[in-house]
Amino acid sequence: MTSIDVLSTRFAAFDKMHSYESREQSYVDWPFREDCYCTPEKMAKAGFVHCPSENEPDVACCFFCLIELEGWEPDDDPMSEHLKRSPNCGFLTSKKDFTEMTAADFYHMERERLKVYLKKTCHKKMAYLREDIDRTLGRLTSQLDI
Ligand SMILES: [Zn+2]
Repeated sequence: MTSIDVLSTRFAAFDKMHSYESREQSYVDWPFREDCYCTPEKMAKAGFVHCPSENEPDVACCFFCLIELEGWEPDDDPMSEHLKRSPNCGFLTSKKDFTEMTAADFYHMERERLKVYLKKTCHKKMAYLREDIDRTLGRLTSQLDI
């Protein structure tokens, strides 16, 4: 699971990833290049940025909805995978290409991207809090059983 720190770092860096060219340039060490569906061009067109780590060389993350996908197969279609796993992504439902956007369009997209980021961060913090409450409750209960 992606940590809050990783989410924050990606959110801050992805403000430059509205452009197809910027996303496409992130695929320097992408393992799928030829004779497959998930080429760097198709990954970037589908909104994904390459976010490799030492143990996960094929992690791709949508710059807008921040969904993270890994374990890509040569036959995977990036746009279909994105639609299947994040059908309400604002990038996928946007009618305008980045090159056609006005400044107002861009700031509207950024505001929506910020909402997605805040929602994901809040959900993670609530999950951590729930785990903490359960652990504390377990400790207290075991003390009462003595
Ligand atoms: Zn998305």
